[in-house]
Amino acid sequence: MIRAATLAELKQSGYKPRSTREEMRANLAERLRRGERLFDGIIGYDDSVFPEVENAVLSGHHMVFLGERGQAKTRIIRRLIDLLDPVVPVVRGCEVNDDPFRPVCSVCRRRMREQGDELEIDWLERGRRYGEKLATPDVTIADLIGEIDPVKIAEGRYMSDEEAIHFGIVPRTNRGIFAINELPDLTEKVQVGLFNVMEERDLQIKGFKVRLPLDIVVVATANPEDYTSRGRIVTPLKDRFDAQIRTHYPRTIADEIAIMEQEAHVGDRGGRALRVPVFIKEILARITMEARNAPEVSQSSGASVRITINNYETLVASAEKRALRCDESEIVPRISDLPAIAASTIGKLEFDYGMEQFGETAVFDRLVGRAVKATFDAHTQAIAFDPIVEYMGQGWGVVVSDTMPSAEYLAGIASIPGLREALDAMGPYESPGLMASATEFLLEGLHLHERLNREREGGRFTYRL
Ligand SMILES: [Zn+2]
Repeated sequence: MIRAATLAELKQSGYKPRSTREEMRANLAERLRRGERLFDGIIGYDDSVFPEVENAVLSGHHMVFLGERGQAKTRIIRRLIDLLDPVVPVVRGCEVNDDPFRPVCSVCRRRMREQGDELEIDWLERGRRYGEKLATPDVTIADLIGEIDPVKIAEGRYMSDEEAIHFGIVPRTNRGIFAINELPDLTEKVQVGLFNVMEERDLQIKGFKVRLPLDIVVVATANPEDYTSRGRIVTPLKDRFDAQIRTHYPRTIADEIAIMEQEAHVGDRGGRALRVPVFIKEILARITMEARNAPEVSQSSGASVRITINNYETLVASAEKRALRCDESEIVPRISDLPAIAASTIGKLEFDYGMEQFGETAVFDRLVGRAVKATFDAHTQAIAFDPIVEYMGQGWGVVVSDTMPSAEYLAGIASIPGLREALDAMGPYESPGLMASATEFLLEGLHLHERLNREREGGRFTYRL
């Protein structure tokens, strides 16, 4: 396709200008008509968040996403870029991406008058029609809206001249999507500036007003508690967000695991096979889900899916070290690797005041214990453990550790009555690594049900009656 280089050529090509929201609306409508999904790769929102986003786009609404950390809010917003046309024509050299048919900035309006159909055109790709800013109290009107450029003033322009403005990120995102993350962290003054752009469609800089009808879809994110707190958002700005969409954490273990598997970087382990038993994945998912319900953890800041993802990576790394040191061909995470994930869990949680007395590590241990116990219960119904417990009652103990080679577990499995049968009932665990992992899971489950005692020194666990 030959792209028009002047306004005359653009008119000849039959190009019809449309606003950003018309463009997004039309492209979404076409996708829906073809039965395509809008947000591939974002799991768990098909019946909750996505239908609301679709309604907002079809309605041409500004949107605010309310959710705790790690709920894919920013990811969804960035995917909205896909609803823009691949390229659109803009006036060449314009700082605010003016539509050649209806320029809004004074420079382009003057050039239009002088050059007419000879006005030069560039083509802007959709990836460049997106602006994003993390709100902090340091963000100024100058950053977002613009400021008077002293150099331009020195060149002889008057203060009242729009051309003396150095535009901020919002006008520069004209004809696109502007995203502001953590909206409540903007100062009131900057919120008012943003409101003026959205509602009055003019820029106000240091008491000086420029009419500039920008064409922008504004999308914001906020923590729900911050957003609803009195005084954090100026009311007129809140009213300007036509659609308020609540995100959430995965509602099922299956979704939490699916996200974990999709996002974690656990791929190439130098030729060693990575085998992660399903109960290990469930334990990781449950630890994060337990944190989301735990009274010791601040629920207003939440527990991100990133905890699950990073824990998976850490657990696999811990198992990989054992495989390297013991020169085993397979990498299989175990219960005794779980202490390693404290490093990727604790820093991502906020502990509630008053609960800190227990210590973060103690809270972490409790979360892990609850997760292992719930997973054990889900996997071991109708399995007989009495022979194992009776055998231990004769004075035997079992020592396992995160550094012990898998082969050493096999001897123990052979000597403890009922253990092999119990493992077989839990699932086919055929390799030494899987058997070792399942053995630890079984022993820890019996401990959590207070059928066995456990002593722990670092990654070394001793079970006895
Ligand atoms: Zn312009």
